[in-house]
Amino acid sequence: MGGGGAGGLRVERVPILRDNYAWLLRCEATGTVAVVDPGEAAPVQAALDARGWPLHQVLLTHHHPDHIGGVPPLQARHGARVVGPAADAARMGGLDVGLQDGDDWRLGACAARVLALPAHTRGHIAFHFAQDEALFCGDALFLMGCGRLFEGTPAELYAALRRLAALPGATRVYCAHEYTLGNARWARGLLPRDPALAARAAEVQALRARGEPTVPGRIDQERATNLFLRVEQPEVAAAVGLPGADPIAVTAALRAHKDRA
Ligand code: ZN
Ligand code: FE
Repeated sequence: MGGGGAGGLRVERVPILRDNYAWLLRCEATGTVAVVDPGEAAPVQAALDARGWPLHQVLLTHHHPDHIGGVPPLQARHGARVVGPAADAARMGGLDVGLQDGDDWRLGACAARVLALPAHTRGHIAFHFAQDEALFCGDALFLMGCGRLFEGTPAELYAALRRLAALPGATRVYCAHEYTLGNARWARGLLPRDPALAARAAEVQALRARGEPTVPGRIDQERATNLFLRVEQPEVAAAVGLPGADPIAVTAALRAHKDRA
């Protein structure tokens, strides 16, 4: 895929495990390389080898094994700095750098801002490269869905998703799982006559039928077709049987509905 925004961040996909993506990031100006959420080491190492790239940083969004499983061998081989949420350092086998909400992080000349998004897990963070229009959000936001609410409240999930929805529309969403097709089917089941959902579901179906990934998406597309970002809309409240309910209650009902789907 390569390319990127004005800041010169190149992004490469590495499919790992069953349906995860790790992301290789390279600052083209300095040659600095990072991997985001390496749940498995071997495919990441193969992707580095194929490009002749070293590895300088390991960026982690949260402590789940499918996101950190590959860290020890990559750290041992490359001496890469392991960077993740300070709040979860104890659950991640130790970090070289612990980050908090609002912290700035640099990959060479590419600048990222850290967003704390407690909900899926207490410590979950995302990396937003504003100049490069790229968001690495782990399991906080999926295309047409979001991660399960394991350690937070519906109010926290709502607040986290509001922050992501407020990012510039052109921001590319590099989430950690290829769940879009299942999410599209679920959303269509709730709002079968929604034209934006119908169009996106058709697009997603066509991509998957050709064996192509759906990730990255874009924030503007998510605002239009991710029901978790549309909880203020009356038709979404009605679809979960809560007409007139507040957005936090709708968020809770949507999440519970998806958990049963
Ligand atoms: Zn997770
Ligand atoms: Fe995950």
